[in-house]
Amino acid sequence: MIPHPEDTIVALSSVPGGGGRAVVRLSGMASLRCALTVFSTAEPVLPGKRRFYVGKICLPGIHAPLPADLHFWPAPRTYTGQELVELHVVSSPPLVGLLIGQLLSAGARPAQPGDFTLRAFLAGKLDLTRAEAVLGVIEASDRNELRQALAQLAGGLSRPLQELREDLLNLLADVEAGLDFAEEDIHFVNQAEMLQRLAKGLAQLTLVQKQLDQRAVDNQQFRVVLAGRPNSGKSSLFNALAPGARALVSPIAGTTRDYLAKRFLVDDTCVEIIDTAGWHPAEDALEMRAQAFSGQQFSQADLVLLCLDATRPILEHERELLRSKPPPQVFGIATKCDLQPAPPGMLGTSAMTQLGLDQIRSLLADRARSQPQPALAPSLSRCRNHVHHCLDYLRKAHAHVLNEDPPELLALELRGALETLGEMIGAVYTDDLLDRIFSRFCIGK
Ligand code: GDP
Repeated sequence: MIPHPEDTIVALSSVPGGGGRAVVRLSGMASLRCALTVFSTAEPVLPGKRRFYVGKICLPGIHAPLPADLHFWPAPRTYTGQELVELHVVSSPPLVGLLIGQLLSAGARPAQPGDFTLRAFLAGKLDLTRAEAVLGVIEASDRNELRQALAQLAGGLSRPLQELREDLLNLLADVEAGLDFAEEDIHFVNQAEMLQRLAKGLAQLTLVQKQLDQRAVDNQQFRVVLAGRPNSGKSSLFNALAPGARALVSPIAGTTRDYLAKRFLVDDTCVEIIDTAGWHPAEDALEMRAQAFSGQQFSQADLVLLCLDATRPILEHERELLRSKPPPQVFGIATKCDLQPAPPGMLGTSAMTQLGLDQIRSLLADRARSQPQPALAPSLSRCRNHVHHCLDYLRKAHAHVLNEDPPELLALELRGALETLGEMIGAVYTDDLLDRIFSRFCIGK
């Protein structure tokens, strides 16, 4: 159930724990009234004006007043669209507990996860794709996810979709106006113009679809790094595993000076494989750079395939890597096993004879599938689904205009397209969907 959006809610919205400042946030009609039951300041607090006050709070059981600041934003120009108050106090968990307790007795109720963002959404300050982006920013586990979430928050997706919705609404209005005057044979928009407007919509949506596909690929990408000593057969394995890959294979050690990346599908799962420069003491600046790249690729890998030349003994630092536990996980494979069998317990491979390559492919597919889903993944797959349906409606609408079918059929497809767009940007939404999205937020957001 969606919590009642008119109540006044309160929550700690800064990081819990000692030190620094704690920010206790209130939203709702009684925010200022509740806050003023604990906060006092020398000057009068003006309810209509956005302002910040320096003062103190008095809490039961604490004899001395404590310094505090009150930030006040009157409705409706606030994040939630409601009156908003923040009390900034010293961050001490018992003190914050007491303060929130007092605000609750003054009439506020504890905010549920995502309550503040839900209010922003209900007040029309955020659409669903942006609300999900807030969640994405909060949950982002790496820079890439954060970048995507921030782009979405900045309107990367929602703006073009809003524009398209406006255009289609206008077109539908024109078509429906024509239906009312069908007897008189009055047309509000001619065939050429309709085709042009629909083609524009199709182009806009195809672009959005491309962006979403790109994000999905970036998101799902499982990064496998081929690492190992120079000449251990990394480039040969890279070429053998990734269709179309063309890394330079050479018996001269250190041929791969940079890194090469190639994406490919294994069992419908997208994997990015990266061939890195081999590890050995750097002799010049270019070599050092290549080594640094390998290090960077190594730290960003989901899985490292450590290539160990079966014709050469395993070195101590390679054994150490195989034993190391922290991510990325290192999986040792013996290469050139057409020349020499793999050591016991190790997967033997040969780029020459394809030995063991199928086992590597299934290992990659299994690991990639068990990879945790990034925060924005549900949002992206929901959007992709809607875009797909919406494109379908628009193509049919375009065909109806071309065939000069009855305008009722065109209006039907336009309504279908608008409905799917509306669901995507949250203009039409169900309690269930909102509940699912907003309950994943943390309290105070
Ligand atoms: P990298 O430096 O680790 O990228 O190694 P390369 O892929 O460039 O290979 C180094 C040398 O080993 C080349 O001469 C390859 O032809 C050879 N090589 C690589 N893989 C195999 C293999 O599976 N079998 C055999 N016999 N030679 C291989």
